[in-house]
Amino acid sequence: MSTLIQTPPKTREPKTQPKVGIVSLGCPKALVDSERIITRLRAEGYAIAPDYEGADLVLVNTCGFLDSARDESLEAIGEAIEANGKVIVTGCLGAEPEVIQKAHPKVLAVTGPHQYEQVMDAVHTHLTPPANAYTDLVPETGLKLTPRHYSYLKISEGCNNRCSFCIIPKLRGDLVSRPIHHVLTEAEQLVKAGVNELLVISQDTSAYGLDVKYAPQTWKGEAYETRFLDLARGLGSLGAWVRMHYVYPYPHVDKVIPLMAEGAILPYLDIPFQHASANVLKAMKRPAKQDRVLERIQQWRRDVPGMTIRSTFIVGFPGETEEDFEILLDFIREAKIDRAGCFKYENVEHAESRLLEGHLPEEVKEERWHRFMALQAEISAERAAAQIGTVQDVIIDGPGEEPGEILARSKADAPEIDGVVYLSGATDVSAGDIVSVRVTDADEYDLYAEPA
Ligand code: SF4
Repeated sequence: MSTLIQTPPKTREPKTQPKVGIVSLGCPKALVDSERIITRLRAEGYAIAPDYEGADLVLVNTCGFLDSARDESLEAIGEAIEANGKVIVTGCLGAEPEVIQKAHPKVLAVTGPHQYEQVMDAVHTHLTPPANAYTDLVPETGLKLTPRHYSYLKISEGCNNRCSFCIIPKLRGDLVSRPIHHVLTEAEQLVKAGVNELLVISQDTSAYGLDVKYAPQTWKGEAYETRFLDLARGLGSLGAWVRMHYVYPYPHVDKVIPLMAEGAILPYLDIPFQHASANVLKAMKRPAKQDRVLERIQQWRRDVPGMTIRSTFIVGFPGETEEDFEILLDFIREAKIDRAGCFKYENVEHAESRLLEGHLPEEVKEERWHRFMALQAEISAERAAAQIGTVQDVIIDGPGEEPGEILARSKADAPEIDGVVYLSGATDVSAGDIVSVRVTDADEYDLYAEPA
């Protein structure tokens, strides 16, 4: 069953206020879209309903990346229609309205990803906006769906690459970078509002600004170009943890490493390598040359000891031979990829890779996935064991399940996708505090610690 988003009411809401229920599916980028829509809705005086029964209309923000995500989206739409009846669909799957209309003809309207205006138009058509806008209900930073102490910061929409397994450019279009002074202003407001960790997201963070030819801007009297390095420099000046996601290993990434060494941004890079074999990467049409990647990673690690590299990989891509797969295993072993997500290749509808030769049987994909995960667990456990006895800063997320247990994350742990630090014996700490701890134990992915 899909869960509707809950937002904390800032003041008591009038009974007559029209209420919209929101179901948000998919990745952090979709979550940021939902936040923007909610912010607009609240700014116009709509309330957010926490359940289907209390909603006058339900908005489903869908994901269409993998077949499994499309199925989940269609299921969530069906559930909302059954429980409420009035449903508007937006998000990635909204780029294919015919699929949605065919499965659910009762849907009131369908809009595509980041079509905020069209979503609002559809809401206005089917649920009359209130006479007065309750603008005071909206905090300056908009409404966040993530806990208050961390926030995703979306720097661009769309992608100029054409990876053969991916339909995101079809769904979200080409790269459109946000002006750097807007991004930095938003980040500064978030930090002022209590956010202690900024998670930079996009489809291709290192391509930031390419579409606007790295346009120069001024922010707080200083010159910034719309590019990855200046973005890292500006964000690094705000005093919060800054975590970079979806970075491709273009050569200019090397210039950001000194900012990690100085402590301006976190020593953490999320680089979706997807594979390591030149044959498979070519068939995947991946951006950024992977030559010398291993050497560069080793150099980064020398420059920034303790740096964390997270990545995602696809196993069982069409044409992947046992030798290609061994190259991949050697790569994660030698590069010591600290965190890795691994997906079995899915034959996504409309993806170019469907037409490739050499599709592999499911058992082969399954077997390779298990081998990958077993090796990754070993690498991760070795890394975790090496942390025992170290003293490091962690950010507090909140109480754990056990009495007295606190959940925290180290600089190596992004929320939701990486490990956690189980902290015991800490008193007087609140979510968002950054405290120094001594690591006392570790398992494959998580650490155990006490106050230092
Ligand atoms: S870089 Fe490739 S995988 Fe990532 S969004 Fe662009 S096309 Fe898709």
